[in-house]
Amino acid sequence: MTTNTEFKAWRVEDHNGDYHGSEQTLSTADLPEGDVLIRVGYSSLNYKDALSASGNKGVTRSFPHTPGIDAAGEVVESTPGSPAPGSQVIVTGYDLGMNTAGGFGEYIRVPAAWCVPMPHGWDSRTAMIYGTAGLTAGLCVQKLLTMGATPEQGKVAVTGASGAVGSVAVEILANLGFDVVAVSGKADHTESLKALGAKEVVGRDALAEDKKPMLKPTFANAIDTVGGAPLAELLKQIQPGGSVSICGLVAGVPLNTTVLPFILRGINLLGVDSVEIPLADKEAVWEKLSGEWKCPTTEASAKDISRSELDSALKAFLKGKSSGKIVLDHAKS
Ligand code: NDP
Repeated sequence: MTTNTEFKAWRVEDHNGDYHGSEQTLSTADLPEGDVLIRVGYSSLNYKDALSASGNKGVTRSFPHTPGIDAAGEVVESTPGSPAPGSQVIVTGYDLGMNTAGGFGEYIRVPAAWCVPMPHGWDSRTAMIYGTAGLTAGLCVQKLLTMGATPEQGKVAVTGASGAVGSVAVEILANLGFDVVAVSGKADHTESLKALGAKEVVGRDALAEDKKPMLKPTFANAIDTVGGAPLAELLKQIQPGGSVSICGLVAGVPLNTTVLPFILRGINLLGVDSVEIPLADKEAVWEKLSGEWKCPTTEASAKDISRSELDSALKAFLKGKSSGKIVLDHAKS
């Protein structure tokens, strides 16, 4: 690893508690030690990037820092036994973009154990349209299927449906033949959610707080991307034996529920982590996303932005105003 190359990165600095991101010129010598130096073609925007960029210490401890928990690109240097120079790889999760310089820079250097080979027929942009959000949606679907969920059992709810995880979950489930009920706070996204395959679109009031300990069992299964009070209400509406995959916290971290949905209806609460799971588990879901779980509508509607557009796009995430998939194209000016 001898070559030092200058590159551009969107770097966040701490100005006495005021966190501000801007484009800066760095050198590959500034990157951490690692097996694989990657020229990043595309990154993807995630809620966690917005937290990092706003100075959330639970995500990023020290600044200046380059966020970007996702990256896809070409290996330019590597140690023996690592993905070879010239190969295309995907890196998501682990410490990327948290306390390791991430995909909002044109180069990253990471352990070989973080690199998934690019699925056949895919390029960096396609991989980043899915990104961590698509991987997480895939893991949520996989957990439901592992528990025996089938379209014949009834409706499946997806909360935070217009978001990055929710929208991919809607499209995968719809393509698998499930009747998807998209729960969304954005009335103006009804048509786009139906285009993804949702059979019904309902407002967040479908999961408004209700003092009753149990409610009508409306959904056979569900994917919840928001957590908090809406999840507690959702659990009361799951049919006997149903399952709920959960991955998110935008509506709150505390989960105030009772044991009743579990002991009266035998429902299953399935936690999903896309970050620290073994690389082979990620690879298996990437393969599905590039094949039988492909989401043509999501792929066609993804929006490309440049580094200079990151600031406003990340702020929209924090306000819950983001929708669909956004990719960072390092070649876009
Ligand atoms: P987005 O911001 O793209 O989507 C979240 C969606 O949730 C919004 O679009 C909105 O959808 C809905 N929402 C936002 N705020 C609220 C609120 N206060 N109450 C109810 N609904 C709300 O985020 P992502 O889809 O990227 O991520 C979703 C969650 O999953 C996040 O918490 C993220 O941290 C987590 N995550 C977890 C991963 C894991 O490995 N466990 C990996 C990736 C993400 P609508 O307007 O349609 O209701």
